[in-house]
Amino acid sequence: MTRTVDFSPKPIFSLEDTGRQMPPVGLISPARYVQGPDLLDHLGRFLSIVPSTRPAVYISPGGLRRHGDQLLDGLRAMQIEAVVEIFEGECSFSEIERATASLQAQNIPFDSLIAVGGGKCLDAGKCVADRLEIPVVICPTIASTDAPCSALSVVYSDEGIVQGGESFPDSPALVLVDSQLIAAAPVRYLVAGMGDALATRYEARTCYRNPAGRAVIGSRPTIAAQAIAKLCAQTVFDDGIAAAEANYRGEVDPALERVIEANTLLSGIGFESGGVTAAHAVAMGFTRLPVARENYLHGEMVALGLLTQLALEQSTDECVQVARFCAEIGLPTHLAQLSLDTAADGPALKAAMAASAETPLMDNVPFDVTPENTWAALLQADEIGRAATAAVGDQAYRRMRA
Ligand SMILES: [Zn+2]
Repeated sequence: MTRTVDFSPKPIFSLEDTGRQMPPVGLISPARYVQGPDLLDHLGRFLSIVPSTRPAVYISPGGLRRHGDQLLDGLRAMQIEAVVEIFEGECSFSEIERATASLQAQNIPFDSLIAVGGGKCLDAGKCVADRLEIPVVICPTIASTDAPCSALSVVYSDEGIVQGGESFPDSPALVLVDSQLIAAAPVRYLVAGMGDALATRYEARTCYRNPAGRAVIGSRPTIAAQAIAKLCAQTVFDDGIAAAEANYRGEVDPALERVIEANTLLSGIGFESGGVTAAHAVAMGFTRLPVARENYLHGEMVALGLLTQLALEQSTDECVQVARFCAEIGLPTHLAQLSLDTAADGPALKAAMAASAETPLMDNVPFDVTPENTWAALLQADEIGRAATAAVGDQAYRRMRA
């Protein structure tokens, strides 16, 4: 039952072995997406279109405590009894194998896996569902990344260090976002998601403009993915501040709904079908430094990665504009806001940027990316970010961490 062959969409979508000059354009997305307040109450109704009547629910102990009654009562209202499998905290191969074996041992013909939680639980859930060869249903409880809609997972070591990714032939069968859960979650998650969402637009643009640029799936990006990525960042710029305020009040309002959609759906399609490049390559570099990895969220590191990308691309005006927005919303704009320091962390940070320069993600940049120009771009971004924070203030950054 366990899948043994690693799946990659790249050779399929790129047609690279056929000798074609240019891959076709292509786009993938979740099969269904639904978002609104208190939707978790109605999960059973939406399962009918998967279709699923024998689901397993994959959720952390804290998630079960907070959302278990609402979720399981909602399913029971549709005569669905779900089996609960606890997510033990890390999206690692050992956790994925454990949960898969545990569910297989029950000898129940599950017809979907419902993953409920944050990015790591959702990513682990996609891996477990793939091994069980059943559809995955994704219910994010925070809007901190664009992981929910994609057909790939980032897998970590048991110590929390990125080990690699897994891609799946199927995108999630259903993504159900209960916006009331997002409104009740800490604001820092929503804001981190905005960092990830902003980067989507600039990374997709670079991949689109560069004839050698590729979407994550291996195709050339569609103009649909371009439009989605552009709308994604525009929504965050227009509604981000109001959405964060609604989140502080714990209330769903139209601005918050739009930003949740930008962080989750638009950024999800935008990155997977639009392409990923320097901002994420630099963010991956930051994860090599324990102080950054252990204290900051993915989207927070991506925000400074984005400023570095814009400096690398010599888009100085945009770098200044994005840095000002990041300061206003509370995203890190400079190294000290990731607890990093060029003096104290110099050699480690330089080595991290050298590793970033070498990742395949940089192949989407239309010029030579080197350890030297990446390092210079980081220093320039840091300077622009410090100036932006000096002008705007760091109240938003401090308020979220108070
Ligand atoms: Zn990301």
